[in-house]
Amino acid sequence: MQKIQILPPDLRNRIAAGEVIERPASVVKELAENSIDAGAKSVSIDILNGGGKLIRVSDDGSGMTREDLLLCFQPHATSKVRCMEDLFNITTMGFRGEALSSIASVSRLSITSAAGDADLGYSIYIEGGGLRKEKETAHRGTTVEVRDLFFNTPARKNFLKSRRTETHHIIETVTETAMSHPGTGFYLTMDRAETMNIPPSSGLRERLLQIYGEEFLRGLIEIEGDFLRTIVSKEGNFRSTRSHQYILINGRPIRDASLRHAIYRAYDSILPKDRHPIFFLTLSIDPPSIDFNVHPSKREVRFSDKEGVYRMVYDAVRKSVTRSALEVSGYKSTEEAATDVPGVAARKAPYGSQNYGRPLTLHHEETGDGLIFEPVSGHHGDIRHIYLGDVFVAYSNGNGITLLDHHAAHERILYERLKGGMKLNVTRLLFPQQITLPPRHYRIILNQLNSLGAMGIEIEDFGEGTLLLRAVPDILSDADLSSIISDLAESLFDIRASSPVDEIRDVIAKRIACHSSVRGRTELAPDEIKALLKDLREVQDPEHCPHGRPTRIHLGIEELKRMFKRT
Ligand code: ADP
Ligand code: MG
Repeated sequence: MQKIQILPPDLRNRIAAGEVIERPASVVKELAENSIDAGAKSVSIDILNGGGKLIRVSDDGSGMTREDLLLCFQPHATSKVRCMEDLFNITTMGFRGEALSSIASVSRLSITSAAGDADLGYSIYIEGGGLRKEKETAHRGTTVEVRDLFFNTPARKNFLKSRRTETHHIIETVTETAMSHPGTGFYLTMDRAETMNIPPSSGLRERLLQIYGEEFLRGLIEIEGDFLRTIVSKEGNFRSTRSHQYILINGRPIRDASLRHAIYRAYDSILPKDRHPIFFLTLSIDPPSIDFNVHPSKREVRFSDKEGVYRMVYDAVRKSVTRSALEVSGYKSTEEAATDVPGVAARKAPYGSQNYGRPLTLHHEETGDGLIFEPVSGHHGDIRHIYLGDVFVAYSNGNGITLLDHHAAHERILYERLKGGMKLNVTRLLFPQQITLPPRHYRIILNQLNSLGAMGIEIEDFGEGTLLLRAVPDILSDADLSSIISDLAESLFDIRASSPVDEIRDVIAKRIACHSSVRGRTELAPDEIKALLKDLREVQDPEHCPHGRPTRIHLGIEELKRMFKRT
């Protein structure tokens, strides 16, 4: 008996839809890209219920005639590619002719469009891939409405995450699309509340200014080359997550591990461990030299000269970054002694003594294996300490030896202070600090103003993505507050507004305690170590950092004797 069957078109389309349309944000991406391809100067997006209920994208682009409208939702219907040669010379966002047909097969879809300047347009209604209604209507540009996404593919529907998560993905998609097309205005409402409002801009720099604000841009440098225009971190302005990294090629946001690697390599010697540069890398590559037809969502590319592109990116970023490093270290040398880890060390440590640079010692000896002996003068008490690398400090009180991870210890103390277990002094800022965040982060922080307030971080909503920071705990007074707030938003991503207060405080305290800008510089002076040990005596769990790693390891005399087989 014959076992093989050709799948019916309806099923084929739904299978294809699975590749293009993964979640509401994919619909937003495809529709916004169609608007851009239609030459729109303005794209308005309205979302209800995380996109599950409604996704509406309206544009003022070239529109469609009735004939085109009746074809556009068919599989493989496209106006952008006609022959094989076109496929190797792609200048539009779309070209595979599968977005509208995919969306049509998994939703209730209506498209209203009028071609050119004609005020009279047509509206069609499609359900599960089939045309149900058609009517004449007055219109300008194109409006696509997608209702009840995945109503006929329950498996896919079950895969959708919470409304909050889908909302974040949509905001991220619009942000990414807006960055890729600075000349177009983007307006987004979610459940009728204005979420993004970014008018057309002159270029990437102005667009980033609209999205992130001035403060954010100050930590970045712009690099311009023949085929490349890039905005990247200045030395010292690094983040603890990869959240602000974008690669845009010919106006298309893509993922590419090799180019990301080129950028990280360019920061090679100045990027501290576990830190990440910010980058907005935009490249213009001659269409025949690049293939976007690799993946249905068009997020991956193949270069005909992969190494050449890698080199170009590496060279450009390297040159500018090392130049900015020189500027920064030149400045630093007049202010304080040179330190080993640039950028990180340049900040005042919370355990600040007057003495920056290396502590003054009576005796300073560097042995071949990197141990630095610093016997401390009398008035510091009994404690003698030895640095082992720049994280570990060994000290003895005569009864064995203790090895301390001073970062871990410091994190524990900050963590307990922030969580409320210890005294926390709060200072009102003389001049409230303005912090502008991308919409996704802005919303997360707005949801947590109470919890932050309870921890001494007083923030007020200033509207349009901007926050006013009015007061902070003393221990944060020298920290990089805007980078802390944006890292916090990233960590609070998975926290629901309804989560227990304690859990929220815990996430906040952990994130801040581990932020490198409050962790202090690498090497502590003798009195700073003394102060640290004193504080450590007061915490509830002096033995562990907030992530559960040990803060110190003690080897008692008895244990040492056993190890040396003396008992
Ligand atoms: P693709 O973008 O790959 O061509 P789509 O399925 O996304 O495929 O769209 C099919 C066609 O419908 C497009 O090629 C275009 O001609 C037309 N179209 C879709 N959206 C719009 C729009 N917003 N304005 C004008 N034409 C559109
Ligand atoms: Mg398209």
